[in-house]
Amino acid sequence: MSTQQENNFQAIIAHAKEYGFVFPGSEIYDGLGAVYDYGPYGSELKKNIRDYWWKSMTQLHENIVGIDAAIFMHPATWKASGHVDNFNDPMIDNKDSRKRYRVDHLIEAHAAKLEEKGQPKEAEALLQEMDALLSKDDFAGLKHLIESNKIVCAVSGTCNWTDIRQFNLMFDTKLGSVTDEADTIYLRPETAQGIFVNFLNVQKTARMKIPFGIAQTGKAFRNEIVARQFIFRMREFEQMEMQFFVRPGTEGEWYKYWKQARLQWHLSLGIPAKKYRYHDHVKLAHYAKEACDIEFEFPFGFKEVEGIHSRSDFDLTRHQLYSKKKMQYFDADIDAATGKPYGNYVPYVIETSIGLDRMFLLIMAHAYEEETITKEDGSTDSRVVMHIPEKIAPIKLAILPLTKKDGLPEIARDLMDECKNYFRCFYEEKDAIGKRYRRQDAIGTPFCVTIDHQTKEDNTVTIRYRDSMQQERILLSQVKDIVINAIV
Ligand code: ATP
Repeated sequence: MSTQQENNFQAIIAHAKEYGFVFPGSEIYDGLGAVYDYGPYGSELKKNIRDYWWKSMTQLHENIVGIDAAIFMHPATWKASGHVDNFNDPMIDNKDSRKRYRVDHLIEAHAAKLEEKGQPKEAEALLQEMDALLSKDDFAGLKHLIESNKIVCAVSGTCNWTDIRQFNLMFDTKLGSVTDEADTIYLRPETAQGIFVNFLNVQKTARMKIPFGIAQTGKAFRNEIVARQFIFRMREFEQMEMQFFVRPGTEGEWYKYWKQARLQWHLSLGIPAKKYRYHDHVKLAHYAKEACDIEFEFPFGFKEVEGIHSRSDFDLTRHQLYSKKKMQYFDADIDAATGKPYGNYVPYVIETSIGLDRMFLLIMAHAYEEETITKEDGSTDSRVVMHIPEKIAPIKLAILPLTKKDGLPEIARDLMDECKNYFRCFYEEKDAIGKRYRRQDAIGTPFCVTIDHQTKEDNTVTIRYRDSMQQERILLSQVKDIVINAIV
């Protein structure tokens, strides 16, 4: 990250705290690593992003329904899914500082330094060698790679490393009151398994026909070793996942559909396409047919915000094996090739999986601007403005009587009563109007309406647009519809 990018990122984090978007978790106790709390405007923005996703998945797709599964699941779930055996990251400890690193992060950071020093070929070669060793689980080779490149610990500055070990990312706890007898259970590391184990419950009760999807949002927990970059990598976070069940043989076309549809969802928020790119996976999990990430250009470079995976029948088949319950669907449609119904099969799955907190960070990074304003007399001023898409802005309309008297607050309160059932409004009568506008800019309110003395005469108000700062005189009776048109 260049110094300017780093400064910009730090400014976003500071802004998020100062204006009630995101606070460090348990801050009065000096925080808890990689855990964050959302404040008044943050919780509102997060909810709006979640609702926008939920609406696009369920309300706008007749063949997708939602569920809300428990965080705790039977421990066999995680055996079946492969998380108990495979959800590991290779780690290495520095013997002098006792600091622990994820091996890939340590090597990637070194490659980034080489690149900064003008050695892109060496950086590329290092990453390629790392990928090759990681894919073979060759830990001795990886340790040798670290040592031969003289990669040192950022804290101790030494190259005195332990052997590489695997570290499981799941948090465990005990179910039941008597510790000795209690079963070890896990906090779910992803929401997807709650969908897979409920596949038949949902299919039968909602009478779904293939192809159909099940959507879910909810918390997931991962004991990330190197949790950095604010809410980009957290230990407790929220996912928005959708599993789409299809007839085997049609997964290719559905994968293409969802890959495109999900990028479209991002673009529908008005974020420029050049900030996004696909990253197609070359190295696939053994059961996967195709996989890609949707990456966004965060202040620290292009990084994954969402994954789209063609997962074959892997998950349902594994649950069938471990639970000994059939996970099949009867397809009565006629197969043109045989003239008979397709019959019973275990469906294939296309998964779309996006981190809500990462999406939140994406919006913050996209929205944040320190703007210099040139006034009519040539002098300059500045403001911090959050260009949050209108649809998901925490507050949609600020209602501001110019003064506290002369009947203006009463008119403003009437407008508040007219609008507050439809969208989130904010009422304020304190401070100069310019100051009030700036505060709304800083939390991303797209519309401000000022009620002044002229309002009493002709029922008009001044509406001010956040992004252009332009103001115009409109009828009081038009306000509600203008806002509704912008947010639906
Ligand atoms: P990464 O490579 O960044 O660790 P991943 O490939 O493990 O992510 P998935 O398991 O595919 O991620 O999870 C789907 C989505 O969940 C990711 O695209 C990301 O948006 C989000 N996510 C995963 N881990 C975290 C985390 N620790 N904190 C916040 N969001 C996360």
